[in-house]
Amino acid sequence: MKPIAPSPDLTSQLAAQLRERRQELQSLLHAAAEAAKAGDAPADVVDFKDVAAIDSRAQVDEVAQTHAIEELERIAAALRRVDAGTYGQCADCGEAIDERRLRALPATPFCTACQAIHERPALGRR
Ligand SMILES: [Zn+2]
Repeated sequence: MKPIAPSPDLTSQLAAQLRERRQELQSLLHAAAEAAKAGDAPADVVDFKDVAAIDSRAQVDEVAQTHAIEELERIAAALRRVDAGTYGQCADCGEAIDERRLRALPATPFCTACQAIHERPALGRR
């Protein structure tokens, strides 16, 4: 018997992870945007508690930012699937995504087989 979706417990656990990760990425992008805006100007108006952390995060390059934006989009889509009750089902074939795969990649929209189809080596992602 194949489950059509992960258990509600696992779904909410992974959804919590996704929200946490989303927040992380958002603050990373925010910090990067602030750094870009600030340019060479002295950052004496910053009154965050964790200036040091934000400073190091601000050093992400544009490639990392692009990846962060892409990941944010995947996370947003995954959270929409959580809300829609379709989380854990492959967006392509509708099969249940393997639980171990979901744990490793909570934002993935595809099962292993469909992911292989989507990951074209020609795109140069890897
Ligand atoms: Zn699939």
